[in-house]
Amino acid sequence: MPVVGVIGAGQLARMMQPAAIALGIGIKVFAESNDSSAHQAVTKVGDINDFAQLLEFAKTVDVITFDHEHVPTAILEQLETAGVSVRPGPTALKHAQNKLTMRRKLAELGLPQPIWQAAKTESDIANFLQNHGPKIVVKTPIGGYDGKGVRVVSDIADVRDWLQNISQFGGELLLEEKVDFVTELAQLSARSPSGEFNAWPLVETHQQAGVCAEVIAPAPESALHPQALSIAKQISDGLGVVGVMAVELFRARNGEILVNELAMRPHNSGHFSIDASITSQFEQHLRAVLDLPLGATSGTSNFAVMINLLGVDSENDFVQHYPKAMERFPQVKFHLYEKAPRPGRKMGHLTLQGNDLDQLLADGRACRDLLYNR
Ligand code: ADP
Repeated sequence: MPVVGVIGAGQLARMMQPAAIALGIGIKVFAESNDSSAHQAVTKVGDINDFAQLLEFAKTVDVITFDHEHVPTAILEQLETAGVSVRPGPTALKHAQNKLTMRRKLAELGLPQPIWQAAKTESDIANFLQNHGPKIVVKTPIGGYDGKGVRVVSDIADVRDWLQNISQFGGELLLEEKVDFVTELAQLSARSPSGEFNAWPLVETHQQAGVCAEVIAPAPESALHPQALSIAKQISDGLGVVGVMAVELFRARNGEILVNELAMRPHNSGHFSIDASITSQFEQHLRAVLDLPLGATSGTSNFAVMINLLGVDSENDFVQHYPKAMERFPQVKFHLYEKAPRPGRKMGHLTLQGNDLDQLLADGRACRDLLYNR
């Protein structure tokens, strides 16, 4: 039986476990703490910056993959040199680890993206503000997630703390024009080492304070689907991606599609696929990293809606409100990640599928509100 080793033990690793069980393959998880979301599959708790610990773990599995992008590229290269099968490999993954590395590569591939520039000094930022302001977006190239590491900036003072600690972010910041977008979209796909490529329908994502709140699958703007698919295919092939990849996109007011960022792992925008696609992104990721043929990605209904359950405070407990929510909404699928509640933290999600998109959204939001006890 092949065994997949997952580095990182968040909700993505957690949701790979039932997919592995269904396929009858093994899964082992390397966690950074004892109380992780994927605790039921954790076989080792250690430090992801420690090569020796990762190598020891890798020796117990057939292939290494990831729940997050935080293992340093140099360590992944060392693992490959030691004969470990790392999927996606560091040459692809580095583009999801560092937003500047990604921007440079997308420019090389000629793909559409916001106007951007690397900055090292106050005057770099002042010039960019002058040319593309009054507001610009400044990002830390590494270490950001869920909007941490992204600021809308109209004055140098807004990012002086980042400039003072710039070495923490690789010595450069990423500056971007503030895109006047109408919608945010995500194109999820998977690629296997032998080059098989398969994609789910383009989805629309709604963010709240930089965090994904809702996903609609497929995105109602069907005219955009071919371009998004083509962008994902060019990135996937161009970078040699293995596994699931999400390309986050903006649809600008002038109709252009622009690439925001990449993730090379299952992604929040694809959680709907667990309940509403022939093959979920978690099953597909396991198939891809094991170089098995990929599964069909078509939906099981005309529409699916995914609603995130974001933490309200440090006390909130969604399970407590299950009885009334489940009674009123038997058609909703509930997913919780067993994470300690914190405001804005991704604690779980709901999925609904059917034909009437407005009804699905209304029911999903009402069900979420019951779990929030509103
Ligand atoms: P993270 O890595 O934290 O997810 P992103 O780069 O995806 O960060 O940015 C988070 C959110 O900030 C995006 O979903 C979008 O709403 C907003 N954002 C990011 N870049 C831009 C931009 N250039 N213009 C306008 N909004 C942006």
